[in-house]
Amino acid sequence: MTTAIGVVMTEHIVAGRLEDHRLTGELLRYPGDTGALDALAAVPGSELVELLSSQIASLASADAAPVNAIGVAVPGIIRSGVVEDSPNLPQIKGMRLAEALAKVLAARGIAAPVHVANDADAIAAGVAATRGQLNKLTRVWTIGNGIGYGRWPYVEGVWEGGHITVTLDAKERFCGCGGVGHLEGIMGYRAMRLRFLDLEPEEVFALARKGDARCREFVDLWHRALAAGTASFIHLAGPGRFYFTGHNVGFLELPLLRGHLESMVKMSPLQSYSLEILPPDDETALIGAGVSALRALAW
Ligand SMILES: [Zn+2]
Repeated sequence: MTTAIGVVMTEHIVAGRLEDHRLTGELLRYPGDTGALDALAAVPGSELVELLSSQIASLASADAAPVNAIGVAVPGIIRSGVVEDSPNLPQIKGMRLAEALAKVLAARGIAAPVHVANDADAIAAGVAATRGQLNKLTRVWTIGNGIGYGRWPYVEGVWEGGHITVTLDAKERFCGCGGVGHLEGIMGYRAMRLRFLDLEPEEVFALARKGDARCREFVDLWHRALAAGTASFIHLAGPGRFYFTGHNVGFLELPLLRGHLESMVKMSPLQSYSLEILPPDDETALIGAGVSALRALAW
């Protein structure tokens, strides 16, 4: 039996214990009140490490079986345990998170190796693990304030799919990173608020459903942008399974996306892709964080 602890740190922290890739026991959450948004925004990086370590320690002591690996999923560019960038948790930018957490855990008597993964990569790993397809290429788009792209199996690289260029229109400059023509500059929640100063994104999608021409045109652009990003990855890495999740996945209409994708992917060996919406949850990323940590032991 393999035992891992998986942790997701996004707007909140959720941690759980996995036995043979399955959750056992209760999930631990911080803050306990799940309604609080942005609860971590004001917490300094060193305190976040303490919060993570106390959750991990309490899960580690929940059973006598030793923990083989600890996986932590966080948003941003993660390489070799270092958070190179994390726009939504800026206090951890530059932090050697795996090392810092391992040190605090060692002081608590926990010696299992710590592996840090990008949160979208962890969702892809979690989907692959829970569907018994760990040997297959699995890709995930997370649609929220930003646009995340995750893939399993992990390969070295940056993979900032949300910042892929999907238009040459020089007026498309709403991306949070400042880049022109980016996918997130069309699809991201913050970007939509900047584009429609008079309407909230939810109102834009609701008005589009009622036939408002300006909103309908944007909703079409939104889907075409996602189709363009997806088509680019199909042309690079091949067809396969694409999953869509995240806080704002409710905006997505799969038939509209599929229609645009069909117009963009014409080579017959590339047309065997599948598209599926996953309701957002923390468990998938948490399982993926643990599975990634166990796999990293073997590398
Ligand atoms: Zn960008």
